[in-house]
Amino acid sequence: MNELLNEMLLKEFSISHKLIDLVCETEKQLHNKFMEVDKVAEYNQYKVLKAFGENKVSEIHFASTTGYGYNDAGRDIIESIYADVFKTESALVRSQMVCGTHALSVALSANLKPGDEMLCPVGKPYDTLASVIGTNGARGSLIEYGVTYRQVDLLPDYSFDYENIKKAINSKTKLVEIQRSRGYSTRPSFSIKEIKDLIKYIRGIKEDVIILVDNCYGEFVDYTEPSEVGADMVVGSLIKNPGGGITPIGGYIVGKNEFIENAAYRLTCPGLGKEVGASLGLNQKFLQGLFMAPQTVSASLKGAIFTAAIMDKLGFEVSPKAEESRTDIVQQINMRTPENVIKFCQGIQKASPIDSHAMPQPWDMPGYDNQVIMAAGTFVQGSSIELSADAPIRPPYTVYMQGGLTYWHAKIGTMVAIENMNII
Ligand SMILES: *Cc1c(COP(=O)(O)O)cnc(C)c1O
Repeated sequence: MNELLNEMLLKEFSISHKLIDLVCETEKQLHNKFMEVDKVAEYNQYKVLKAFGENKVSEIHFASTTGYGYNDAGRDIIESIYADVFKTESALVRSQMVCGTHALSVALSANLKPGDEMLCPVGKPYDTLASVIGTNGARGSLIEYGVTYRQVDLLPDYSFDYENIKKAINSKTKLVEIQRSRGYSTRPSFSIKEIKDLIKYIRGIKEDVIILVDNCYGEFVDYTEPSEVGADMVVGSLIKNPGGGITPIGGYIVGKNEFIENAAYRLTCPGLGKEVGASLGLNQKFLQGLFMAPQTVSASLKGAIFTAAIMDKLGFEVSPKAEESRTDIVQQINMRTPENVIKFCQGIQKASPIDSHAMPQPWDMPGYDNQVIMAAGTFVQGSSIELSADAPIRPPYTVYMQGGLTYWHAKIGTMVAIENMNII
């Protein structure tokens, strides 16, 4: 770093000389790692660009529809581009799917009927799905509609419990949900290769089972997506990776025609399906967000790697470690105490572009079983492709940090958070 920058950090952000020195040393060591991240981003940028070209995107596709939204050319082309990028037959990409949880709920409830069974072979799914599935007794859940649910936990070393997965698959098993990212759990995230092996194993037992991958936080982190290794449906949130920090709302489901059509009939209604759903002027933001996504994901990844390296040096347990390969943008840091969790998150908030003056506190968030603290000074509310840190207040007091529209913001966020913890 140069003198001007150091002076700025010291004077304007109260970053100590000691921390600045540590940051300089850390960044030098990460040079090659960052180059690897950029290679994946470059590849994915070309992938997206190619899909834009092949679909002949024009300015006319930015045009808005209202009301029913019949003949929304932009909306249709966005879905065609998503299908091309994820290499699937079809896609449903809508602002009417209000978040990732909603997209997952639509994909699941559209493809599971009373009497069918759903299986999670990789342990408890993401917190908000407890209500969608109904394992917590929530109203309107799949279980309430007569869908049964089975779960096979990972083995203590976090590998797949193949033996019990085989035992769990039966004549009722209709859909298997595999979550790529760790979410709010302490297990590692699964690589595309691991997902591929698991899908192959499950297909070997029951060929026609529907395999859905919850891809939240995973898009564009690797060269391929789960839809290229046998998943029938892949689902995610547009205020995470594929929205590139630009798309202000939405979810996507990509996959086989039949399952996407079912999802469209569930999202709107039987008979109408994909034909309706006005884009209300959002097409340009969906397109530009997807176009920016590979670059935004690379910034987030570099931020996560930087944070992993520096927190590791400061004696905190981190996962993944800086040198480990990644399959999502989530960085887990074990803070050991609730105080550290709160101080770290408040530091991230202090270094945010929006609401830097606010002081986040733990609260009872809808859909979560524990109190959660969230630092998110984001342009889009709750967007976690933007720099954000959150933590359920429960042992082992793990903070999940992710996002960063630019690498430099993620970096300064971590520096301010470290200063705020008073540990250096
Ligand atoms: C964020 C997330 C979801 C839910 O997405 P929302 O947009 O927050 O509703 C589901 N699964 C995983 C793994 C996630 O990270």
